[in-house]
This record gives sequence, structure tokens and C-alpha cells, in this order.
Amino acid sequence: MNLPSYTCGAQEQPLLAMTIGAAFDRTVARFAEREALVVREQGLRFTWAELAAAVDRCARAFIALGLQPGERLGIWAPNRAEWTIAQFASAKAGVVLVNINPAYRLSELEYALKQSGCRWLICADTFKSSDYHGMLGELLPELAASAIGALQSHMLPELRGVISLGAQPADGMLGWQQLQALAEQVGAEQLRECGERLQFDEPINIQYTSGTTGFPKGATLSHYNILNNGYLVGESLGLSEHDRLVIPVPLYHCFGMVMGNLGCLTHGTTMIYPSAAFEPLAALQAVAEERASALYGVPTMFIAMLDHPERGGFDLSSLRTGIMAGATCPIEVMKRVIAEMHMKEVQIAYGMTETSPVSTQTGPSDDLERRVTSVGRTQPHLESKIVDEHGRIVPRGTIGELCTRGYSVMLGYWNNPEATREALDGARWMHTGDLATMDAEGYIRIVGRNKDMIIRGGENVYPREVEEFLFTHPAVADVQVIGVPDSKYGEEIVAWVKLHPGQAVEPEALRSYCKGRIAHFKTPRHIKFVDDFPMTISGKVQKFRMREISVLELGISQH
Ligand code: AMP
Repeated sequence: MNLPSYTCGAQEQPLLAMTIGAAFDRTVARFAEREALVVREQGLRFTWAELAAAVDRCARAFIALGLQPGERLGIWAPNRAEWTIAQFASAKAGVVLVNINPAYRLSELEYALKQSGCRWLICADTFKSSDYHGMLGELLPELAASAIGALQSHMLPELRGVISLGAQPADGMLGWQQLQALAEQVGAEQLRECGERLQFDEPINIQYTSGTTGFPKGATLSHYNILNNGYLVGESLGLSEHDRLVIPVPLYHCFGMVMGNLGCLTHGTTMIYPSAAFEPLAALQAVAEERASALYGVPTMFIAMLDHPERGGFDLSSLRTGIMAGATCPIEVMKRVIAEMHMKEVQIAYGMTETSPVSTQTGPSDDLERRVTSVGRTQPHLESKIVDEHGRIVPRGTIGELCTRGYSVMLGYWNNPEATREALDGARWMHTGDLATMDAEGYIRIVGRNKDMIIRGGENVYPREVEEFLFTHPAVADVQVIGVPDSKYGEEIVAWVKLHPGQAVEPEALRSYCKGRIAHFKTPRHIKFVDDFPMTISGKVQKFRMREISVLELGISQH
């Protein structure tokens, strides 16, 4: 029988018809004295009751700042306790949290803040090579002399101020502790009334995901979208208040703040952050010392943990489950995670920011073969279909574009109806741009991408964005960017550059030009100077040919 490539997930459990704030209060009431959050680098531990006190204080402080439901609040910081407090507090106050990648540099930050019309921005002070205060000083020279909350910037006219997480806020910035003190101005009753007016279908989060058009697009997600996705991901893992989940993935991405934080919130599970940004040793230590039962990661993180020379010294036997997701999960890596890290019940999840993110997931009862070679079946309450280039559903086993529909599909791209129309069709199917097949039992395999996105170390890099930036170099006449396989990062970035006649520039000089201007993970590792690109007769650059040539020239082996 030739079944069509369409499936609908199970519908037994009802979806959570509540706001994130209401779900938070419910968990606090059920598990008040159990551990909610452990932030190892900051040496902080919170029970749900302690976290509730911090979250409610912060929500009242946001209201005191004048933030209204529906207004936007940016956050630009690596993983730390304040990120999570701000996530839950903004949800309680109905303020839309705008996640900004901590590796973003000035032009990307400015774009995200402007496009989303952020009123306030929470930022770290410094982290690794990022000097957040310094960059903000450059972007907002008026800030230093502004009264708190009275910023008037011609670059960012809607921004009123900046909240610093650093011990020494720069001039004009409001310190985190000063912010918390403002809570005195707003009573608990006012916060409760604000929460009661919020609706679960309202937007509560904007996550920037770069588009093929070159500029990031703000996937706008509601309470309902992300709360239910976190909930159903956790249900599939069988999470409960007895579980302890290590979250080494970034909070600015839905893997951390939805699958991690909201997965835990909806199950009373303990959230454990090993470090501000992923470090294999810190993650292994966190699992062993916290006796964690679950662990998340993108494939490159698991590879780094598996290959760490000190892994053998850690007792990982408390692990039961976890998720590998975000990019193609190599079969061998999955097998090693099961055998060598005790993650007998590890699952693969697949999805994208625009779908909250998870659309398909392997389940606890799937056989080993399915658990390591597929991305599982359609999640509860969702539908999947695979279509050809005319939008017609293909038979099972045939490759086509995977589309997702249901509660998890974003409200749209923030302030970008055109891009929204391109991604979401009239029947509200999200067109993922991923190529997939579906087998007779509904298991889905991802076979590639029909867009050119590069995933380097779990970070999405859209060639057009890098190309547009390199174009700004005076010697560059034309540039094309591709990804090539890389054993460490999954993919590495290669730029083919055509210089203006008579110009000469070294690859290193071009890389230095990127430094501090675009995020380090978008900087091309290899630069090749060419006179021309492989083109089709109709004048389109053949990136697949470029990839073949670069793979050969760089001596990359492909398996
Ligand atoms: P993002 O919006 O950053 O979550 O990236 C979404 C993209 O990551 C998807 O469109 C896929 O191309 C890729 N992706 C996510 N999970 C998987 C997976 N399990 N296997 C293969 N690709 C994946």
C-alpha cells in the first residue's frame, strides 16, 4: 500500500491551556521545597519557593520600570541565574523577552534591538572575548550621561535603558540589584492582577533566527507555543520532580529556554547549569557531582564530552535519559552516548525555532535502530507531512520537504509579514526547508537541507549574512560562502572571494576584518581567492559544486 507521507501525533493528554506564569505558580505550589535551579559557576542554588521569590520580585521590578504587557525586553548574556529569573519574570509580567545570542556583535545587536523595538536590554558585562559594556558604549554613546530610564538614542529610539548583570554597571546603566530594589514600588496584588489579564495565546518570546535573506528574523512565540513544547518534550523523556537535568546548551536558544527550562518547569525537574557557555569538563563534573539523571546537548557537545581525556574519572551512572538535537545526530555518537555515558533512554529530537522548537522525537519504546537512525515520530498534537516541489504530499519513503502544523507553530516573524507568508502557508503549515523521508510506521529521517544554512558547532550560520558582511570590505568584489564537513564543529565555513582588479589581501587580513564585527562563529575558517564561481547557464552560483571543490582541495574526508 502506498501510504502518503503524513502523520498526526497522539492526542491523549490535553495541552496546557495556561500562561507560563500560571504554570510556574502551579509548580511552586506542588514542589516548593524541592530544588529548582543550580547554577554551578555562580555557586547558586534555589528551591522552587526561593526561585518564586526571586522571580516575583523581578516581575514587580519590571512593572516598576514601566514595562507594559506586550512590550519587548532584550537579554544579551550567557547562561546564568538571572537569565532564567528574567525569563520567568518577564512571562509573569507579560513582557516579551527577546533572546539575543551572546556571541552577537554590534551590527547584529543593533538590528535585533531595533527590529523588535526593545524598551530595555539586560546585558552581561564581559564574557570571554565579548565586552558587552564596551560594545554598548559604542552603540549608545548617549547612555553614560542619561538618567536611568531616560535614554534618548537616535540609533535605537525605542530603547529606554540598559540593565547590567555585572558587579560594576557602566555609567547610565541600572544594576541588577538596583533593579530588584524597585520591586518595592509594586505590590504582589498588582502583579497578580497583571497575570490574570494575560492570555496564553499572546506573544511572550522573540527568538532571532537568521534567514536566507541575510537578516535575522524574529520568530514570535506565545506562552501556548513554548510552554506546551517544553511540557511534551519532558513528557516524552518521562521527567518528574525526581529528575535532575544538566543544561549545557545556551539559554538564548530554544534548546535551553524551552526544552530545558520549560521542560523542567512543567515537571518540577531540577535545572542544572554547569557553566556560562558549554565546557565539556564542567558538564561532566555537573553530571557526576549533582547526580544528574538527564543531560542535553547538540551532537558536537556530546562528541566533546565523549572524547574528553578525563571522562573516565567521572561517575556518570546516575544518567538515565536526555536529548541530542539541533543537527544531524551521528549514529556512532548516539551508540556511544548510550553505552559509555549510561544514557540508556537518550532521545533524538528534531525541530526548529519557528516550531517552538520540537516537532518530532524518538520515544522510550522505540527500538535501538530507530532511536539512533531517525528523528522519531511526530510529537503529540502535531502533524507532519512531506511534500514535493509543488506542495503535493509524497508517498512514504520518498524525499521531500518536511512541513509541520499544530500548536507549536510560531505566531509569525516579528514585524515581517512577507517572511511569515513565505514560511507559513494559508493552512498554517510551517515549511521547514529540511529534506526528509517518512517510513511505513511514521518514523522520519532528515536527509539534508534545501536551504544553504550552515550549522557550525550547533550555531546556525546563514551564508548570505556572512557574504553581505564580507562585501563591506573595500577589496572584495564578490563573495560566496559555503559549509564543508568538519569533524570537530560538524561544519566549517569557507568563503570564496573575488577581489577587485589590482587588489591584494591576505586571508588573515580578511579574518581580522571580521573580528569584533561579526560573531566569531560566523568568521570563515578557510578563504579561497578565485576569479569566478561555478555558475548555471541561468546565472545562479552552484554552491554544491563549490562545496565539492573545496572538500577536495582541503582534503576533507566525507563519510
Ligand atoms: P534552529 O532554528 O536553530 O533550531 O535550527 C533548526 C534547524 O536545525 C532545522 O531546520 C534542521 O535543519 C536542523 N536540525 C535540528 N534538529 C535536527 C536533527 N535532530 N537532525 C538533523 N537536523 C536537525
